[in-house]
Amino acid sequence: MDYPPDAVDAKLVDIPGGWTECFITGHVKRLIYDTPGFARPPLSPPNGRSYRIGSACSKGLGMFATRVIRAGDLILDERPMMVCTVSSSKTFRVTLEVAKLSDEQRRQIVLHEWGKHIKLAFDRMPSENQKAFMEQFNSHEHDGSDEIAGYILFVHQHYLYSLIDITRRVGTNGLMCDLQDKGATGFKGRYTAICKDISRINHCCGPNATWKWHTDTFTVRITATRDIGIGEEITIAYCGPLLSAAERAMCLAPYGILHCKCSPSCSDEARSKIADERRARFPILLIPPADPPKSGEPEDAWVQPAVQRLQELEEEGLEGTFYFTQTSFQLINVYSFLHDVNKALWYANKLKGVWKALEGKDLDAAYSSEEGIKGSYFYSAGETRKKGMPVKVSFI
Ligand SMILES: [Zn+2]
Repeated sequence: MDYPPDAVDAKLVDIPGGWTECFITGHVKRLIYDTPGFARPPLSPPNGRSYRIGSACSKGLGMFATRVIRAGDLILDERPMMVCTVSSSKTFRVTLEVAKLSDEQRRQIVLHEWGKHIKLAFDRMPSENQKAFMEQFNSHEHDGSDEIAGYILFVHQHYLYSLIDITRRVGTNGLMCDLQDKGATGFKGRYTAICKDISRINHCCGPNATWKWHTDTFTVRITATRDIGIGEEITIAYCGPLLSAAERAMCLAPYGILHCKCSPSCSDEARSKIADERRARFPILLIPPADPPKSGEPEDAWVQPAVQRLQELEEEGLEGTFYFTQTSFQLINVYSFLHDVNKALWYANKLKGVWKALEGKDLDAAYSSEEGIKGSYFYSAGETRKKGMPVKVSFI
């Protein structure tokens, strides 16, 4: 296996896929080298490049689609310019008499020490990446500390709120690597990736793309979660999209986003209240009633809350969340059970692109044909019920 040379004069063009300067512990280095398939080349979108970086008005720069991108399509798979600790647990220690210092002084010292270490990695970067790195820094606000560390702090804030997302099981967003120091807990000993193009992707509370870290290719992968039209801005969520508007505002403030106006769910007060109420409700599992439909009611009356939920998730732009997948499967299974094959296929078709974006693979082929639906467990259970035999099915 060939690894990029350490030569200071090496150019990016010499290494297809580029390379990453890493500020990591020996433990994490071993984790990376032991990852099956490392270092595979980054994936290439099947139809070539589909985006450009351009002005996004008050938001600065942004990423825009140059052709129609379908849900599930790979947009880019980018190797970061740098991977470094979010908040090191082991790599440096402050040994001053910290008791005499104020919180702010301590924070500044830690940032300064951290910055010195990051600078080691920065100095090893190819000059193209150093330039791109500093240009990115210039497009962000920072906290007045060391310039390089100040930029990274933003990315760390990004990660911090993603961690909150995880604990709330509302999905993940951010540039967190799936790498961590031995015995690390919480925020310390985690790693973050700083990419050239991906860092230009702006935030949206109902984003049209999602991201995922891959150690085997050592890349951050961006995939569309719904269809994106030509010229449309490509967005990801910097914070948990299921948080309330007030919580999102807190998470977005460190990025300089003080009043997110990405959609009516953010900019319109009345609409924002509806969006908050919906977002609080999405994690509550819908459990179909055990009783059969009352006579005179449509057979699928009991599943209407799930139909409505899927529609609301779409209206909020939350196709890339677990709840969209969960509700879609409920509807596919329910309509298979009721032998409404067309509706089952219709919901499967809605799920197809999102599934590919989130799981990185195609939805099971059984969900794409009449034969597949008719061969499902739920269809068979529906047959048993039609014969008048008691059947207990869970659609959860
Ligand atoms: Zn917003």
